[in-house]
Amino acid sequence: ETRVQNICFVGAGYVGGPTAAVVAYQNPNIQVSVVDKNSERIESWKSRHLPIHEPGLEDVVRIARDGIASRTHSSGSDERSMSQRSPNLIFSTDVEKCISEADIVFIAVNTPTKEYGTGAGSATNLAALESAAVTIAQFARAGAVIVEKSTVPCGTARTIQDIFAVHRPNDKFEVLSNPEFLAEGSAIRDLLCPDRILIGSSRSPSGFAAAAKLQSIYSWIDKSKILTVNTWSAELAKVVANAMLAQRISSINTISAICDKTGAEIDQVAAAIGSDSRLGSKFLKAGIGFGGSCFKKDILALTYLANSLHLPEVADYWMAVLAVNDFQKTRFLDKIVSKLNGALYGKKITVLGYTFKQNTNDTRESPAIEVIQKLAEERPSEIAVFDPGCTALEIRHSIDAFVSPAQFQNLHTYDNVYDACSGSSAILILTPWEQFKSSKLKLDSQDINLTSPTVSSIDASIPDPALARSPVPTKPAYSPTIYGELKTVSPLVEPPECPPDCQRCQTPAA
Ligand code: NAD
Repeated sequence: ETRVQNICFVGAGYVGGPTAAVVAYQNPNIQVSVVDKNSERIESWKSRHLPIHEPGLEDVVRIARDGIASRTHSSGSDERSMSQRSPNLIFSTDVEKCISEADIVFIAVNTPTKEYGTGAGSATNLAALESAAVTIAQFARAGAVIVEKSTVPCGTARTIQDIFAVHRPNDKFEVLSNPEFLAEGSAIRDLLCPDRILIGSSRSPSGFAAAAKLQSIYSWIDKSKILTVNTWSAELAKVVANAMLAQRISSINTISAICDKTGAEIDQVAAAIGSDSRLGSKFLKAGIGFGGSCFKKDILALTYLANSLHLPEVADYWMAVLAVNDFQKTRFLDKIVSKLNGALYGKKITVLGYTFKQNTNDTRESPAIEVIQKLAEERPSEIAVFDPGCTALEIRHSIDAFVSPAQFQNLHTYDNVYDACSGSSAILILTPWEQFKSSKLKLDSQDINLTSPTVSSIDASIPDPALARSPVPTKPAYSPTIYGELKTVSPLVEPPECPPDCQRCQTPAA
């Protein structure tokens, strides 16, 4: 009765897609579907060109989605039978059907900051979550377990329960909180080897039974890493984890401002602090501040919660983390302008790195966007942008969404780092991609370290011979490392054919 045979993920984004793929990969006997109302995204998940770039993702998706053919040849005396496997992962726009077949339904839709009405600019916009919950309430099997995978405000499980009470008054459903802690850029590794799995349930026999059912699909994770807590603790813990990570970045960034005005060096200070085992060394790299779709929105949601609980001191404390993040970007821009003698007019400026962090193609809330917007006001002759994770066209489309064409006529995006740097007065490394660090592009300073800002007046019109010898790939050099047990499986089934006019195939190959 408790055996899980079918799971549905609602929302095929940065969380739903990779999480479903790893769950399917690790549970060959469970059918996993990922549904989304965005048909373009679903088509992309079905194709050779996944909508999301993550090291290792392609392999996991291909194994689970396309299966593994039985081994036809043997190499020498080694005739180990490789486990053949049938596909158990599908991507679909048939939301209702997939939901109706599932024993567990995950909600992995977007929960951005609300931009209008009550709570505009800080509350969480739960429209997508509510609409998904209504569809699930209408179509789910009686007794299916509903799981919040999205990051939600504390108390959201009750809202979902209320929706179910209206649509299915005669059936009983458990709503669990199972927030996702993966970091973009290392999503597959994080899913295969998470620090913990957090499961929040109601403290009742049916709540515990639902939690046990959910736990059973995390078959590859050591029991000691599974934390079972009450629903509200799980919901709140996710938001606070992000707020605390962001807070560390802002903390070290405030110190970088002090370093700039004294003789102290931020990297030395950070190393000294980080070697204290009580503090640890992670998230102590000073830079232009955090971006991405999560940190800011989760801090805003936390302050909204604090204010609505009449705890203004708590809200103010967390708002300061965001204020420092803005301050840091302003300092960086001021520094660029002053390094270039206050005059960007007529100069070419190169921005290397447009994604919000390395090893992802996600550009949401990237600090680069604001830097580019502000630089444009200084009227340089050209702003050149290159990122190893996005094609020139993808960067263009993203930037076009933020600014008017007139403002950006001098903005050019590149598929090649040399062309982007050629003839530039300044190269700004805004994302710490490995290739920017390891190549000669390192220039004379550290990636995004503000105390020695990555502004260098180099004349890149003459190609640097060292750079030419070790070319910087124009596409992500995804780590060939395959995590977990993946390395033991082969051969894969050929991925689906592309249509003859496939646009993505025309872009430079990896
Ligand atoms: P996303 O925008 O990439 O994906 C969400 C998807 O849900 C979209 O494709 C959208 O079309 C789909 N969707 C929305 N409403 C739907 C509906 N009613 N029916 C079907 N599909 C619907 O978002 P994401 O980055 O994957 O984030 C999802 C959630 O996970 C958010 O709550 C986020 O805070 C949280 N989270 C994100 C990360 C991250 O690194 N991106 C990490 C942990 C948690």
